[in-house]
Amino acid sequence: MIRLKPLALALSVSLTLAACQKAEEPADTAAAAPEAPKLQIDLAQVQQQPIALKAEDLDTSIQACQDFNGFVNSKWLAANPVPGDRTTWGAFPALGERSLQVQHEIAKAAAAGEWPQGSMEQKVGDFFAAGMDEAAIEAAGLSPVQPELDRIDALSSNADIPAYIGDAYARGQGMLFGFYAMADYNDSNTNIAYASQGGLSLPERAYYLEDREDYKAARAAFVEHVAALMQLAGADEETAKAQAQDVLAFETRLAKASLGRLELRDPANRYNPVTLADADASTPNFSWTQFFAALDVDAPESFSLPMPGFFKEVDAMLADVPLETWKTWLRFRTIDDASPYLSNAFAERNFEFYGKTLRGQLEQQERWKRVLGALNGSMGEGFGQLYVEQAFPPESKAKMEELVGNLMASLKTRLENLEWMSEDTKAKAIEKWSSFTPKVGYPDKWRDWSGLEVTDESYVSNLLAASAFNYRYMLDKIGKPVDRSEWGMSPQTVNAYYRATANEIVFPAAILQPPFFDVNADDALNYGGIGAVIGHEMLHGFDDQGSKFDAQGNMANWWTDEDRKKFEAATTKLADQYSGYEALPGLFVNGKLGLGENIADLGGVTVAYDALQRAQGEGFTDPMIDGYSQDQRFFMNWATVWRIAFTEAQLKQQITVGPHSPGMFRAIGAPSNLPAFAEAFQCKEGDKMVRSGEDRVVIW
Ligand SMILES: [Zn+2]
Repeated sequence: MIRLKPLALALSVSLTLAACQKAEEPADTAAAAPEAPKLQIDLAQVQQQPIALKAEDLDTSIQACQDFNGFVNSKWLAANPVPGDRTTWGAFPALGERSLQVQHEIAKAAAAGEWPQGSMEQKVGDFFAAGMDEAAIEAAGLSPVQPELDRIDALSSNADIPAYIGDAYARGQGMLFGFYAMADYNDSNTNIAYASQGGLSLPERAYYLEDREDYKAARAAFVEHVAALMQLAGADEETAKAQAQDVLAFETRLAKASLGRLELRDPANRYNPVTLADADASTPNFSWTQFFAALDVDAPESFSLPMPGFFKEVDAMLADVPLETWKTWLRFRTIDDASPYLSNAFAERNFEFYGKTLRGQLEQQERWKRVLGALNGSMGEGFGQLYVEQAFPPESKAKMEELVGNLMASLKTRLENLEWMSEDTKAKAIEKWSSFTPKVGYPDKWRDWSGLEVTDESYVSNLLAASAFNYRYMLDKIGKPVDRSEWGMSPQTVNAYYRATANEIVFPAAILQPPFFDVNADDALNYGGIGAVIGHEMLHGFDDQGSKFDAQGNMANWWTDEDRKKFEAATTKLADQYSGYEALPGLFVNGKLGLGENIADLGGVTVAYDALQRAQGEGFTDPMIDGYSQDQRFFMNWATVWRIAFTEAQLKQQITVGPHSPGMFRAIGAPSNLPAFAEAFQCKEGDKMVRSGEDRVVIW
């Protein structure tokens, strides 16, 4: 199975450190001879421009106090429908598209040039060239995964399966459950191994279990998909149909034994340190001791084995599911996971189900975009070194430091002045605040890719080599100190994150563009954009999950019982607010699932607004740009960030899978709780954008 999503990211990885100086080049790339050519792209070739707040895009026939998202976003969205090869379109996706186009220029230049063997340019160029070699990919058909299929065919009894699983994971081809290294929840300085539930092809367990029309349709389509895929791989129609039913039944058992998304929000449900002996005793048919040995990882004193129901079920299935069914499922997962990278018949089949049926995407992405997706999954941070050299202006960093500084100061003031929290808990909150580590742009120290060989000969071979290399890299962390300089996202990713075990907030280079960030824009735009995102990431440290980790990144209760009760009462009110948002007729947002994100939005916008006032200082003269005040532009840019349209299927999936509330509700959810919003737009009590009295939510 070709894992493009690092397993570790499923439940978040480890790390920290601040500021970004240019790191020393690793030895293998610095080995370039003095006359080696320099990769250079022309950014003017990049057509997709960022979507910034513009007065001409506002629909002034809509009242900001009634429908703020409509006022800011509806006109632009009506004029810019979702492109056929996407399932969402708006400001965030447009930056993703722009990043892809920059990456495309880099990859083309790398593929066209001559580079020293082992340099990042050579690896990126060859990976891209092999991925674009459609003729070779067509000629290869299913053959790139045949060795894996042969190993599965060779299984002769159920007792062989655990050894096969260990062997497959050692090659980076995990499929049945998650297994990864991450900071110990009880000792955030040390990495331990974590196992977690997995094995599902559909997006969430509810798709297998709930009696909803769209889930039932997804199950029926899944069975058709499995049958079609097995036929493509050589099975006759009747056999393929029977196998498809077996695959659904197999995964339904896993789904029934899995925890739901809401349960997984509680870190205690994701962490359960056990000794190897206790782990082995809990699953008599699956030896964890042998699994660690197969992975060539020293037997640990303990590792995290939570979700006992899931692993108990896997153990039972090892005994009672017939060998032929196991082989069918393993075979299906091997081919299904590889399909996007195989010949067109397989890639199309994959798109038909996972793209068109489940997400409402009308057209397959062009090959170059798909290959860049694979490249990012295989060596994203390595590729990011080239991205940063071409597309990250150094002046962005200084401005970001100023913004982070003001956001930090404003959050501290808010914590000190919280009316509902006792002094004891407050002191702990401020201690946690004081240990935030911001990271901006790209890592200080780049990862070493010298052990990964990439050639222009076979796309799938490169993917398999990268899977094995990356998985080994992660396994080697088990039992070692956490490297706080590591990043969990590549610089070309349009996103940001908070990691509880490191108490760090991280902003990759590619998000530092409009509408989030513009070094030349007025403060209102930067504070309403990236400022609120900085606040959002900080507030994740104090959301329903982050608040269960302390300043050192350990899972610990630093709250008094009474403060915790008050926190939960306030957050319940916030969950109820979002659960009232109707995304499609009869389909409401799940406020509990999105709670952490919505706490972070509410706090983030609040703190960013305070920070804007702080940045403007006393005696500030409002420049009134296009007739709008700085306060208005602050909120308008927050809504611009969340300017987005969805295909119907994608919207349904996002609501089920979460955790983020769809953008149209993020645009309004936090501002409607802020008196500053009502003041800025002169809204009245009773207007839709004004929550007051008991309805108004204040948390941080
Ligand atoms: Zn978030």
